[in-house]
Amino acid sequence: MSNSEKIALITGASRGIGKAIALTLGRLGIRIAGTSTTEDGANSISKYLNQIGIEGRGYVLDVAEDESVASCVSKVVEEFGHPLIVVNNAGITRDNLLLRMKSAEWADVINTNLSSLYRINKIAIKGMTKARWGRIINISSVVGASGNAGQTNYSASKAGAEGFARSLAQEIGSRGITVNSVAPGFIQTDMTGMLSEAQVKDLLNKIPLKRLGQPEEVAEVVAFLVSESAGYITGETIHVNGGMHM
Ligand code: NAP
Repeated sequence: MSNSEKIALITGASRGIGKAIALTLGRLGIRIAGTSTTEDGANSISKYLNQIGIEGRGYVLDVAEDESVASCVSKVVEEFGHPLIVVNNAGITRDNLLLRMKSAEWADVINTNLSSLYRINKIAIKGMTKARWGRIINISSVVGASGNAGQTNYSASKAGAEGFARSLAQEIGSRGITVNSVAPGFIQTDMTGMLSEAQVKDLLNKIPLKRLGQPEEVAEVVAFLVSESAGYITGETIHVNGGMHM
């Protein structure tokens, strides 16, 4: 199957890592359905794709809501066909020490980062199974493996995402579908923009490559995993963290 026959659904593609993934896969000729929680965000995705001649558009999606997932995927199927590539990138943080963590902070992170994988992948694998080809990539995080004080909710969601990928990989490998995780370290996006200068300085001491990563450096790994060259890799987590966790 050529790239132009493939549709990639990329959640959280309005900015940061998701935008870099949309642009990188789009430049390879893959058609892109990128999502944002807002109409403005969805329009901005259509604009940046179309500006450089990538076929695709933005959709509104809240991965935390069953109906929103069902309606977004059915619109994509209607307009482009079944997405055979799904990149579960949308994610949030609500950091707090466990002693102070409110139940909403716990629930929002688990619902957005982890339960979303149940909602989206369950629908998406139907089309992949029919096509007997598919690629699912979950964007997890280095802290899923290393842990991080103040992020029990986020670390649990990301470790859960990796376990989810390993189990699903075993369920659907026989259909030619691979399921992998990409675990970024600290990447320069709005999410890490909230860190203070002192926090960044402290972080750099722990990163052998002495810099934050760029969204494109994560996107290139996703591009490899969705390619035919990665057809024998499944259930794997690839870390992109400048060596901060080995
Ligand atoms: P970001 O700049 O904060 O962007 C987050 C994206 O997710 C936005 O496009 C946002 O859409 C979307 N989003 C948020 N909540 C959503 C929801 N309920 N439903 C659908 N979309 C939603 O984040 P980022 O830094 O690029 O991170 C992307 C992924 O990489 C996340 O899963 C994050 O956990 C992971 N990660 C990031 C880092 C890092 O250092 N940056 C490190 C490790 C892992 P809107 O357009 O609506 O805002």
